[in-house]
Amino acid sequence: MMNAIHNPRSTLHAVTPYGVSTSDVESLTSYFCRVAHSHSMTAQKLAEWVLKHFEQSVCEKYYWYQRNFSSMSVESEQWAAWLGELTGVGSLDQLTLAPLRNLVGTPGLAPRADRWCPCCIEEDRYEGRDTYYRLAWDVAPVTACLRHKVQLVSTCPHCNKENVRNRAAIVVPGYCTSCGGFLGDAEAEPATPEELWVVRQVGQTLQQRPQVAEDGLTSLLGVVIERMAANNMATFAKQYGFSKSGVWHWMNKGGLPSLKAWLTIALHGGIGLDKLFAGDVESWVVPREKPQFEMPLSESPRAGIRSRELDWDEIRTSLMKMLELPVPISINEACERVGVGRKHLYLRVNAEARAIADRYSRYRSEVRLQKEVRLREQIGEILDARLAAGYEGMSARDVWSQLDEQARSVESVFRHISVVMAERQK
Ligand SMILES: [Zn+2]
Ligand SMILES: [Zn+2]
Repeated sequence: MMNAIHNPRSTLHAVTPYGVSTSDVESLTSYFCRVAHSHSMTAQKLAEWVLKHFEQSVCEKYYWYQRNFSSMSVESEQWAAWLGELTGVGSLDQLTLAPLRNLVGTPGLAPRADRWCPCCIEEDRYEGRDTYYRLAWDVAPVTACLRHKVQLVSTCPHCNKENVRNRAAIVVPGYCTSCGGFLGDAEAEPATPEELWVVRQVGQTLQQRPQVAEDGLTSLLGVVIERMAANNMATFAKQYGFSKSGVWHWMNKGGLPSLKAWLTIALHGGIGLDKLFAGDVESWVVPREKPQFEMPLSESPRAGIRSRELDWDEIRTSLMKMLELPVPISINEACERVGVGRKHLYLRVNAEARAIADRYSRYRSEVRLQKEVRLREQIGEILDARLAAGYEGMSARDVWSQLDEQARSVESVFRHISVVMAERQK
């Protein structure tokens, strides 16, 4: 309505995600359940509401948890952006594996069943915070908790069922969706040193966004093969148990190594996965005795790696400047000007994106209001002229036929005509 007051607050509660920029970062699945809970909604209802809000089709047969909130998919990234837009919380894609999408292949990434560390859940409850599910638990090669040095579990200690963590319409993180029992009651086995090494590696990569851009992967893998096998693809494959065609595919066809393959490289290369994904390989020396690995490189292996990295500070500055433009622009227009999609603006520069969208929507309502005022004035003038000419009645249709183009374009123009005519008859 005309008198609607612009509301700058977020549409959904600005729930703070747990553990951002740490290896204990919350998964988007868990975050989504907590946002739903804070609105006393089921996760299923919230998913349908969000889809409708963004004019997406809602399939009744599709359960919310079939949507892969925390995975590496484009869909996960989209949900992170939508939730960012609605909650005003930025960088929610860091609650998904989406930032790894250009580096890690999908095979072997999704666990067979939902897992959790019972000690973490118990600790959440003990410390009085919401129980939440860690993103690392949704990464298949991770089979243990580094903090508690135990193996993850996947069966409810009370009803012995699997997949009872979040696969239901109503989810309260920490409690079995089948029997309601506390999932922190499960017994956990001690973890092996190998398992803990893997968790540490994966945990470190979840702390920060990878720096290697899409087109920097081949050059990074080139450095890997150069350092680990003297630039010989066949030797590299044989030595570390990869298939030759697989390695060829990485180098020539844009194939992505699986997380397991990356872990193998990290283990044998004696380099952290986080360093590899940061493209921080300039000073990397493979800890082996073979002399060819110790030879200094003649050219910088970093060349090209960061070429497509976007300069977010610069984008932020551009957006701030757009907020000063005399005529506000829409978020889509802003996206075009900085050459970044709407999704990424809401993920990376949330506050600025929302400010632009807010300013534009305020501007739009002002313009609408001005047009309506002008329309009503025109209707009044037409009626006055008619009256002055000595006529009495006039149909709404007649009034409309005398309006100019712009006045006719106002929404619900006939409603405005009848309101003005009714006011005149008082
Ligand atoms: Zn734990
Ligand atoms: Zn149960």
